[in-house]
Amino acid sequence: MRRYIYCDTCKEETEHILVREDKNLYRCVECNTHTYFKPEKEIKVRAIISSGEESEKGSVLLKQHDLIEKGDELIVETKDGYKLGEVTSIEVDGKRFDRCDAEKASTIWLRNVGEVVVKMSLHKRAVTTPYKVVVSGDTEFAVGEELEIDGKVFQISRMKLNDGKLLKRYGDKAKARDIKRIYAMFKDRVKKKRFR
Ligand SMILES: [Zn+2]
Repeated sequence: MRRYIYCDTCKEETEHILVREDKNLYRCVECNTHTYFKPEKEIKVRAIISSGEESEKGSVLLKQHDLIEKGDELIVETKDGYKLGEVTSIEVDGKRFDRCDAEKASTIWLRNVGEVVVKMSLHKRAVTTPYKVVVSGDTEFAVGEELEIDGKVFQISRMKLNDGKLLKRYGDKAKARDIKRIYAMFKDRVKKKRFR
């Protein structure tokens, strides 16, 4: 297994190969230095996100030792996609708090900020990079559309929708709130700096 870890010798995040799983020992592919790396446990916490009068159940993925505070913006996974919510309170054993450690929270209450998180898989040759953008739920994306991300141009090749449908015909459109994941292929470097 490979993962990006900060290397003390290279002084940057580099690719590392897992050498001994039982010891969490990794080796930097750039300089061959060995390092121990224990990933923090991720936990799924129950969430309730409200949009006006309606509220919807979902979950948020947090790191065990994250401190959650009122006003934080978190991504909530619901049955119809990922939504961006602002924390309004955190419930622990039936009481409400303004801040709490992620692992103690029983339910996180959030207010829908009207934006959604669109997940993308960016392909460049054999490498796939996950990417996320936060946009208004009404934002439209189309198969064939070019996106500028970190100085590179990616072209949308397919879009998976929340209802399971897969769009792959050039020109097929969907609104951000209905998209589960966008797949895009590397096309070119950006010549002129412009943000969409
Ligand atoms: Zn290194």
